[in-house]
Amino acid sequence: METGSARNSGATGAAPKAPVSRPQMAPLILFGSPGSGKGTQSKLLMERLNIPQISTGDMLREHIREGNGIGEKAHASMKNGALVCDDLVNDLVRQRLAECDCDHGFILDGYPRTRDQAEYLTGIMAQRGVTPVVIHLVVDYNIIIARLAGRRQCPRCGTLYNVLSKPPRVAGVCDLEGEALIIREDDREQVIRERLDAYERQTRPLIDYFREKGRRLVEVDASGGTPDQIFEQICRSIQSE
Ligand code: ADP
Repeated sequence: METGSARNSGATGAAPKAPVSRPQMAPLILFGSPGSGKGTQSKLLMERLNIPQISTGDMLREHIREGNGIGEKAHASMKNGALVCDDLVNDLVRQRLAECDCDHGFILDGYPRTRDQAEYLTGIMAQRGVTPVVIHLVVDYNIIIARLAGRRQCPRCGTLYNVLSKPPRVAGVCDLEGEALIIREDDREQVIRERLDAYERQTRPLIDYFREKGRRLVEVDASGGTPDQIFEQICRSIQSE
C-alpha cells in the first residue's frame, strides 16, 4: 500500500458505477511483509479486475496529510513503525467497505494485520456472505531490507521508485511531476526494523488464523522477477483457485 491518497487507494477506487447484474467477486487480501510489494500488486489487480484497492496505510497517510484527529493518532504510531490501534483501523475499513464501489469485490492491502482485525473482518465477510482469498507475497528478508531502504516516493503523485531496482530518469526527481523525491518517514532504518518486528509478532501469525478458518491461501514467490511477472503469477494462481 503505498502510493497516492486514500482517494487513489480506494476511497473512490476509480471504479465506475457498476451495472446491477455484475457478479460479486471474492474479496482479495494482499498479505505480506512491509516491502513485499503489496501496494504495487494490489494496484495492478485493481486495474485488471476493476475493483477498488483499499490500502489502510494510504488511508491513514491521507488523514495525516489532512491533519485531523485520526491522522494525529495514527501518526504517533506510524512514525515509530508500530501498528495503529485496531479500533481506529477497523472503523476506517468498515466505513470504506460500505461504499457502493465495493459491492462487487475489493482488494485489501495491508489489512488485516492483527488477530483482532482478522476477526473483525471475518464478521464483515460473514454479513456479506463472501469468503476472501488471501494472496501471500513471500519475499526473502534481505531483499525486503534492500527494497525498503532504497525506496523513494514522489510527495505529489505518490509514485514509488527504488534507487537500485527502479531509479527515476534523473536521480532524486519524479519522472512524472519533476518533484524532489522523499524518503517516507517510516522507511528510515530504525523504523524499518520496528515495522518488520511488528510484522513478525502481530501479522505473520495470521497465516495460521487464515488456515484455521479454511481461507483459500495462495502463496506467491515475490522475491524475484519484475512486478509484471509477479502479477502474472498472481493472476494464474487466482484463476486456478
Ligand atoms: P508497509 O506494508 O510497507 O508497512 P503500509 O502503508 O501498509 O506499508 O503501512 C504503513 C504503516 O501504517 C504501518 O507501519 C502501520 O503503522 C500503519 N498501518 C497500515 N495498515 C495498518 C493496519 N491494518 N493496522 C494497523 N496499522 C496499520
